[in-house]
Amino acid sequence: MAAIATADLLTAWERGSSQSGSRRLLTLLAAMYPEIPEQQLLKLPIGQRDGLALELREILFGSQLISLSVCPSCSERLELALDVADIKVASNGSTETPLTLEAEGFELRFRLPDSQDLMFIEAVSSIDAARRILLQRCLLSASRNGQLCALEQLPEQILDNVDAAMSAADPQADVQLDLSCPACQHSWLATFDIASFLWSEISAWAQRVLNEVHLLAKAYCWCEADILAMSPARRRFYLERVLQ
Ligand SMILES: [Zn+2]
Repeated sequence: MAAIATADLLTAWERGSSQSGSRRLLTLLAAMYPEIPEQQLLKLPIGQRDGLALELREILFGSQLISLSVCPSCSERLELALDVADIKVASNGSTETPLTLEAEGFELRFRLPDSQDLMFIEAVSSIDAARRILLQRCLLSASRNGQLCALEQLPEQILDNVDAAMSAADPQADVQLDLSCPACQHSWLATFDIASFLWSEISAWAQRVLNEVHLLAKAYCWCEADILAMSPARRRFYLERVLQ
């Protein structure tokens, strides 16, 4: 990964602002990891994509992060101090594809969901329908006692086994935080989604930088490109003088 220029990150944020959640994370990763072809990013299993996003988060903002959650029982707001290492799953899953599963006479071959699959189901409002479409796209073949069968012919238990096998092979795709409420002692599992978390942080960062550009351009009549080319420390120095 090349050194990150402020202007490049801002451009990626600007492009991603009008895109969907899955697409904007790819825009960001493509801009920050130009050595990885975009087609390869598109086909990365979701957990591997999220592993890359966590790595990027650490490079941009450090390893410490604060995540917010709300207790589903008493609505208490929780501030969680986490480290990227707490969220990063040591991958012991298989990277070999296709994956296979044999149970109850069924033989299945399938692949892991990737960003293209997520983009395909983004507009689907029903969770059940989205899961079905995802399975349809990822199932490469299914047979029972040598006879080919369609997705509709597979028992729900077999489909649950496919879900479980996908999670085991790509564990970073579904990060669950084990939380406990200090106010009412309720315990629950909360999903941590690095895609939306990182995007929120980059949006806040972009607005802060653009505000700095606005103040410096107004005070010194410098152009945007020159201000963005400065190091954050130098920008901050001039900004402090302006705000004195
Ligand atoms: Zn509570």
